[in-house]
Formats: sequence, structure tokens, C-alpha cells
Amino acid sequence: MSVPLLDLKAQYATIKDEVNAAVLEVMESQYFILGPKVKELETAVAEYSQSKFAIGVSSGTDALLVSLMAADVGHGDEVITTPYSFFATAGCISRTGATPVFVDIDPVTFNIDPARIEAAITSKTKAIIPVHLYGQMADMDPIMDIARKHNLVVIEDGAQAIGSEYKGKRAGSIGHYGCFSFFPSKNLGGAGDGGMVVANDADIAERLDILRKHGSKPKYYHRFIGGNFRLDAIQAAVLQVKLPHLDSWTEGRQTNADKYRKLFREKGIVVDMPQSVKTGSSDWMNEPLNGVVLPEEMDNCRHIYNQFVIRVDKRDELRGFLNERKIGNEVYYPVSFHQQDCFSDLGYKEGEFPFSECAAATTLAVPIYPELTDEMIQEVVDAIAEFVS
Ligand SMILES: *Cc1c(COP(=O)(O)O)cnc(C)c1O
Repeated sequence: MSVPLLDLKAQYATIKDEVNAAVLEVMESQYFILGPKVKELETAVAEYSQSKFAIGVSSGTDALLVSLMAADVGHGDEVITTPYSFFATAGCISRTGATPVFVDIDPVTFNIDPARIEAAITSKTKAIIPVHLYGQMADMDPIMDIARKHNLVVIEDGAQAIGSEYKGKRAGSIGHYGCFSFFPSKNLGGAGDGGMVVANDADIAERLDILRKHGSKPKYYHRFIGGNFRLDAIQAAVLQVKLPHLDSWTEGRQTNADKYRKLFREKGIVVDMPQSVKTGSSDWMNEPLNGVVLPEEMDNCRHIYNQFVIRVDKRDELRGFLNERKIGNEVYYPVSFHQQDCFSDLGYKEGEFPFSECAAATTLAVPIYPELTDEMIQEVVDAIAEFVS
């Protein structure tokens, strides 16, 4: 049996009539950009994310870019972020003319390690972008403390984390800006590109609204240089149908994570991270894991499992093995930002962020989507156990 990494058709089958009707309604209205459908979605996402305001934008990438623009980040500024994320997180910083400054991750959660942030702050630092990777939020309390102390803007990259929680607070609601992506493979995915920024400050929300329309208010009178970062009504209509299902889909992902944990344990191949990784040594390079490290959930957090990411030895060989058996898998992400060609001028060296480099070399995402059957999960576990043993 083949097990895809993600099966959007299986999800579509459960909501097809509703989605099709919503799209048809937009076609009949011929009202395609922003407008009432987008407004309704913004209200719903703001409420879902425990935020006062929400501004629909053209993608998760544009959510980050327009937030940086609204925060007036540009040439001469530095923005601190993780070296281990989807490219957009760092790419957007550079696109504003600012310089990304990387801070290594916590090797257990894969999120930026707050204990390392202050050492990276300079007089040029303007903002911090924590990423809630794989659907689990970064350790936000110390990040907000540091931001307050140094007067920095916090932009949450919640592209993989809509609905996730940190001590009862939803992703996006803690920082000054919260960015979401509706890329089809995210937990709340549209029928194309889309994104949203949430905020609790009315002035910030207004700036975002103006900037997504070329910085004009009223129309054709430009206060700022913005861009076309608008959300389409068709995306909003589809997402409005999907949002009420999001919590049950999240439960499905969490249940699948529990099933993986149980089945991997039954195989006797679950191991903890080697101690040397956790204590800051770089001995991990030579130390085999001899098993599968499973994702850990932090206390008082709601992990929404956009991805279920394990760590293994011989990761690339395992990929080949799984591909041969038609078991979906992916590496998020094989190259840390500081080792990307386009950031070579930043002057970072190999070995500078060992936890990020270690994650890039050893992690593998396996299927976690809610429509997976028990047989499929068993097949994934059987195959990995066969390879590991
Ligand atoms: C998907 C993603 C983005 C970008 O979102 P798009 O909608 O694809 O532009 C940004 N950051 C992270 C962490 C992501 O996973």
C-alpha cells in the first residue's frame, strides 16, 4: 500500500459540496479581491487566534514581508531569527534591505533557543522573528521579555502553527504581529496562495491594511510605499468553509501522533536525544542515535502537528528505502540558512549553528494528515522499524 505524505483529495472529499458552493457563490458575485468574503474570514481568524485584528494577505511570505514593512524594518537594521525554517522567514528580512542574524535552535523543539538571543542583539537589532516550527510554538515568554527589555518588535512566523497554543495563548496573539500561511499543505490550506497577519494594536492593523493596497489611503493617495499583498475572495470563501473543521482535523493529527508513539515504542526502537546534543557539545556528529527520536511536546502547549518529524541515523538512506516502498516523506529542511548560497555574504561558517546543522542532517517528516488510516500508520512504522533494525 502506498502512503502519501499528504492527501488533499481525501480532505476535499469530505467537504466537496460546501467548498464548491462557496466558490460558485464568488463566481456569481464576480467580486474577486478583498471585499465581504475576505472581511468575514478576517473576523473568524482573528477570533480563532485570540487577536483583535486580522488582515488577509496574498501568502504567508507576504504576511512576513508586509509585517516587516509595517514595523519599518529596512536598510541598516538587523532582524534575529532561526537558521532552521522555510526560506521565506529569512528571505523576507533580506528583501526589506535588513540583515538576518541567526540564533541556533533548541535541539529538542527545533525552535529558536531564547537563551542565545541576547548575545546576538546589537544597537542595530530591530525585530525578532520566532518560528513555530512543525506546529509547536517557540518559547515565547523569554522572547517577549527580551523584546521588551531591548524595545524590539516580535513577528511570529506562525505559518505552520495556526491554532497552536503556548500557555493557553494562541499562535499569533503574543507578538506584535502574527503571520499565517494558507498554502495548501498547511493545516488550514486554501485553493492556492493566501496568508493573514493578526495583531492586537489598531495602529499596526491599519498600517498593514494600507500597505497591502500599495500604501494608499484614500485610494491613489500614497502615505507609504506598499505593494499588492491582497487576499482573493475565492481563497477566503474556501478557507471560511474549512476553518470550522480545523479543530477536528487538528485532533486527527494529534491522535495520529499518539498512534505513532505507541507503535514505535512497541517496536522497541525509540531513543532519547544523545546527552551531548542537549549540553551544547558537538559530539553528536560522531554519535549514532541507534533508533528513532520522536517529537516532544512541551508542557502547557498545544502542538498542531503540521509535520511529524523524527530523527534517525542514515536519514538519506532511510528516505531511499521509504521512497522505494512508496511511503511519503520529506526533509524540512536539508540546508540551514547560514549555509545557503544566497546568504554567503553574511559570513557565517559551517559548524556555527551545530543544532540547526544536526537537525538538517537527521530529521525526516512522515505522513501525519488526519485522514491517514491505522493500516497506513502501521505500514510507515513497520517500514522504518525494518530499516532501523
Ligand atoms: C509556508 C511557510 C511560509 C511561507 O508561506 P507561503 O504561504 O508559502 O508564502 C513561511 N514560513 C514558514 C515557517 C512556512 O512554513
